[in-house]
Amino acid sequence: MAQDDFCIGILPIGEIDPLYLKILAGSFLGELPIKTLILPPLPHPDYAFDKRRLQYDAASMINQLETLVFKDCSKVIALVDADLFIPVFSFVLGEARMGGSCALVSLYRLQENHARAVKVALHEFGHLMNLDHCHEKKCVMRFSKNIEQLDSISNIFCDYCLDHLRYMVRKKP
Ligand SMILES: [Zn+2]
Ligand SMILES: [Zn+2]
Repeated sequence: MAQDDFCIGILPIGEIDPLYLKILAGSFLGELPIKTLILPPLPHPDYAFDKRRLQYDAASMINQLETLVFKDCSKVIALVDADLFIPVFSFVLGEARMGGSCALVSLYRLQENHARAVKVALHEFGHLMNLDHCHEKKCVMRFSKNIEQLDSISNIFCDYCLDHLRYMVRKKP
């Protein structure tokens, strides 16, 4: 592939089963002209642990990730085996800012289910690419706040969301 291809970095935080990294890296290939790169791991995020909630602060982790430079990567999807929260929810399965460069996927509540991790990663990637939640029944950009809802959505983008992604990938940040 050409050097200026759109590249997604897959970043393990703490100890992550290498199989997850491979499956996730593969899940982005196919529909879009992108490549993926598995990055060296970062240490477990002790700094983000909230002693009152006994969970990890997703926003502070994203702030930290956004300060780092990931060479050759247009976007980064970080995987962590820690229970994440943001103030308005009791937990989140993933977190990303619209148009941001780094997203988080938490494996903590997914019960070692690779298919679920793929859905969360694709969904958060969509947010990094400025996609909002989608109302299409089967689109992976549909909002899900728990495992039951996550299981009811598909692992593909609807035609509308896919067109948007194709446009954004060509444009690059
Ligand atoms: Zn979302
Ligand atoms: Zn959609």
